[in-house]
Amino acid sequence: MPRQIVLASHNAHKLEELRAILGEHLGGIELIGYDGPEPVEDGLSFEANALIKARAAASHTGLPAIADDSGIAVKALNGSPGIFSARWAGPKQGDQANLELLLAQLSDIADEHRAASFMCAAVLVMPGGEAFTRIGEWPGRLLREARGSEGFGYDPIFQPEGENRSAAELSSAEKNARSHRTRAFTALAPVIVEQLAD
Ligand code: IMP
Repeated sequence: MPRQIVLASHNAHKLEELRAILGEHLGGIELIGYDGPEPVEDGLSFEANALIKARAAASHTGLPAIADDSGIAVKALNGSPGIFSARWAGPKQGDQANLELLLAQLSDIADEHRAASFMCAAVLVMPGGEAFTRIGEWPGRLLREARGSEGFGYDPIFQPEGENRSAAELSSAEKNARSHRTRAFTALAPVIVEQLAD
């Protein structure tokens, strides 16, 4: 097996973030970026969309590929925005519009019913097609207004369980220590090491 895996994303920031999360767990396996064709993500779950991305990168490069798909799941909305998190307010509307729409939708929901989780599906697809998935959940609740300026997406309105700050008031090191992405990829790391063992 090659001692390289490819990250099925064109996002250089995500490559750095995953190198930071996975680095110490991968025992010398190198994580490289991907600049091949990107598929349409038309799956109906985080796992399905992550698999679509990883399968495309594995077949284009011939290397084992990892990918993730993530979003926020609000209990009072039966798990939405879910896979529609990035475009909840419509295509090309952006983080601020998405967050404002979600706050408006939840405006009459009482504090005790504002549970929400960030979710992440992390997958490994081998060149032969075998696939492995791990799900990471970061539980918490939705605030009533945005707080903090770190992070991205819904971070300013998400208060992680056991915290009195929003996710956007955590440093990136604090967020990386506990996030849904970290949980999913930390669980996937031993699978990667095992699958790439000679
Ligand atoms: P993707 O998996 O990178 O495509 O993320 C999908 C969308 O979910 C993002 O555009 C954000 O709206 C939301 N999201 C995923 N992870 C986070 C996070 O860590 N903080 C805030 N929003 C997130």
